[in-house]
Amino acid sequence: MRKTIVAGNWKMNASKESVNNLIGGLLSGMGGVATEVIVCAPFPYLSQVESLISGSSIMLGAQNLNANPKGAFTGEVSANMIKDFGAQHVIVGHSERRSLYGETSAVVAEKTKAALDADLTPLLCVGESLEERESGNTEAVVEKQINAVINLLGIDAFDGIIIAYEPVWAIGTGLTATPEQAQSVHLFIRNLLAGSNERIAQKTPILYGGSMNAGNAADLMSCSDIDGGLIGGAALKADDFLQICKAG
Ligand code: PEP
Repeated sequence: MRKTIVAGNWKMNASKESVNNLIGGLLSGMGGVATEVIVCAPFPYLSQVESLISGSSIMLGAQNLNANPKGAFTGEVSANMIKDFGAQHVIVGHSERRSLYGETSAVVAEKTKAALDADLTPLLCVGESLEERESGNTEAVVEKQINAVINLLGIDAFDGIIIAYEPVWAIGTGLTATPEQAQSVHLFIRNLLAGSNERIAQKTPILYGGSMNAGNAADLMSCSDIDGGLIGGAALKADDFLQICKAG
């Protein structure tokens, strides 16, 4: 039985005041939430969130990391630094990192390795663009993105990885994949993992991300291979995010 996980990706949206309000709202509404809850904060706010969620069941994540453990990489942040602030998770390969910052699947695989080496759980994002979907290449794209990690780290690494299937055309657009569209890709991913290791395939959480909100979360998460959500916009409002957590 896989656990249901709901993770919030705040992206580059935060201030000290908004973080206080958002975490305060989440903490006061966590009663009745059975899902595992993760909030992925921008780096400068990790410490603040670490303090605010202390003693609660909410877990902390970062949104990116550098693949190197330390050294002359001005402006970058390592896995151990993220760990130092109590985070247990880190997003790798978000489509915004892939498209805006040129992160290739090879780079994403290296970042996944760096996270695992530091005992952080990577939230490995994969997903196709609209053009790739319309040209019938969704499965090929997702397979290539996942194989980059399998080829570098081996299938056993997925014992410590959470996958997030995020169709690029659904991120921040208000266009959500239908439960059928999402379930079909989630099943494809699970079968892909099963080709190397059935046990790992059955236990790996595969989250859906892309305009998930309080209105569509329950339908998406009721699909047999959708194990939760990675939430952008709707993670910035405590009530909306809590409703999604409760739908899981
Ligand atoms: C995301 O950024 O991972 C995401 C899913 O965003 P949104 O929910 O806003 O589409």
